[in-house]
Amino acid sequence: MVAGNWKMNKSPKEARMFAGFLASSIGEESTVDVAVFPTSLAVSGVADIMKDTKIKVGVQNIYPADSGAFTGEISASMLTELYVDYVLVGHSERRQLFGETDAQTNEKIKAILKNGLTPIFCIGETLEERKANLTNSVLERQLKAGLMGFAKEEASRVIIAYEPVWAIGTGVVATPDQAEETMKYIRQFLAGLYDGDFAESIRILYGGSIKPDNFDSLVAMEDIDGGLVGGASLLESFVQLVAIARNHA
Ligand code: PEP
Repeated sequence: MVAGNWKMNKSPKEARMFAGFLASSIGEESTVDVAVFPTSLAVSGVADIMKDTKIKVGVQNIYPADSGAFTGEISASMLTELYVDYVLVGHSERRQLFGETDAQTNEKIKAILKNGLTPIFCIGETLEERKANLTNSVLERQLKAGLMGFAKEEASRVIIAYEPVWAIGTGVVATPDQAEETMKYIRQFLAGLYDGDFAESIRILYGGSIKPDNFDSLVAMEDIDGGLVGGASLLESFVQLVAIARNHA
């Protein structure tokens, strides 16, 4: 899978134009799951374009209630009227800049699954945590809290994105060995939380400064099932990333 998080970039008009470009260049891609995450403002326009293609659409955040007095928020249930399949949860920018807690990731995943959508659940350690040898315990805490209360069937609908915070938007990419080592650990931990079959079949994406010149060696690793891409998803390089993933599908 290759997923493009556009963050707070592209106006509704720019988003539609770029969606049109992606639709004509990779709209028929069938060996790799491709998804784009425009802003909530642009999602409806992008969804209208992508609904005639194989490219899926997601949003970057939701509030866990269906409706109510939650100024500025959108709900998962509202998205079911649109051609939207995915929702990002727990992105490090949501955690760091907007105070999203582990408990809130759990509430959001619950609402996303209840509405038949697929969460892409982001986890990852900061540089300080990595330096202090806390990577595994931070990931364990995030996974345990985010997946709390879900039976295996529900949890198997979740896609995990391992995004070391120090690699997001910094140009510092994890080496394939670093990413593989941590992602293998995530899989082992999930085997303990559920079972071996679960851990083998759940999809785990890597995210953090993915570019066409570093993606091939990452996606070649055994435990890396694709990429969640920020900066390089805003450009034509996204098409190159999909082509690279296709070689490993
Ligand atoms: C992201 O925000 O999920 C991300 C991985 O960003 P970038 O590719 O720009 O590091």
